[in-house]
Amino acid sequence: MSFTKAYGKYFDGHTSKPYDVELEIWPEKKISFFYNNRKLNWNFEEVSFEKNSDTLYITRKENHAESLRIDNPYVINLIYQSAKKSRNISWYQNILDLGFKFYAVATVTVVAAIALFYVFVIPWMSERVTEITPVEFDNKIGDSQYNQMESILEIDQKKSRILQEFASNIDFETSRKQTFKVVNDSEVNAYALPNGTILVHSGILDKISNYEQLAALLGHEATHVKERHSVKILSRAISGYIIVSAVTGDVNGIMSTIADNANQLNNLSYSRDFEESSDAGSYQILRKNKINPKGLEELFSILKEKEGLEIPKILSTHPITNDRINFAKKLVHQNEYTSIPHQELEQLFTELKK
Ligand SMILES: [Zn+2]
Repeated sequence: MSFTKAYGKYFDGHTSKPYDVELEIWPEKKISFFYNNRKLNWNFEEVSFEKNSDTLYITRKENHAESLRIDNPYVINLIYQSAKKSRNISWYQNILDLGFKFYAVATVTVVAAIALFYVFVIPWMSERVTEITPVEFDNKIGDSQYNQMESILEIDQKKSRILQEFASNIDFETSRKQTFKVVNDSEVNAYALPNGTILVHSGILDKISNYEQLAALLGHEATHVKERHSVKILSRAISGYIIVSAVTGDVNGIMSTIADNANQLNNLSYSRDFEESSDAGSYQILRKNKINPKGLEELFSILKEKEGLEIPKILSTHPITNDRINFAKKLVHQNEYTSIPHQELEQLFTELKK
């Protein structure tokens, strides 16, 4: 077996003075050199390696003060590869050697952790945040939203009174104050503000053909208010941003994001779980009031109908997915229900349609 000659510096462990030594590098085996006329043999198993960008330190395991320093990149590589083959490189050095690959894995791990946060931790956090937020907060942001939009809304006062009367015949199982208004607007839309104001466009009323469908729509919107979905999406968005900011160190962005989100509350769409939850809430309200829950299922087919190429506006804030339709169908068809005729609702509905 042959060896390679190279030069290095030897520290004997007694003084800090380096000694120039001539090394014999025996592949996958050992390093030998002469010091004070004595031949020293360092087997790869007996030493540890520490590689910086352009220096290699080889230290004796039994005496850490005794070491060799090598600066020649070619020699460093030769020794290092050779030592690696003899499996004498520590696990953390191996990780460092992975370089980019290691950082890529680390990045993927961090991204996965953030994704888990979004899916599990943030919804949970937002529930807790909502619990400790007084309902007065919902009312305040709802009031301020309504004040901002009031000037552009054309409220049909007469129909609003009828709708309010219609709703008062339904038990929504909530202690929150609810105000129902009809807006003269051909856009097929209905939405709820967090203060309990529920706005129904004339455009969607035109499409609705019976009181069961209308009750289902109001039940859905009322559940968004009752379950405080606006506050929950707001706190989800904010806690998500806070976590990402904490990871990326962008703390300054937090405050502006809170402000942005509060302003854009109108445009935030409910997530699928909130939509399903509101459908389930609507179903419960219909059942409790002995109103035929088929109204809920019929409501979906009305909303799914496209007007030409235009998609009804309501779908942008209350997305209807196939999952949601199947979920509602299951509710309606897999459970027993009793429905009775509601003359009062029928009559008020007829008046609304005039
Ligand atoms: Zn909805």
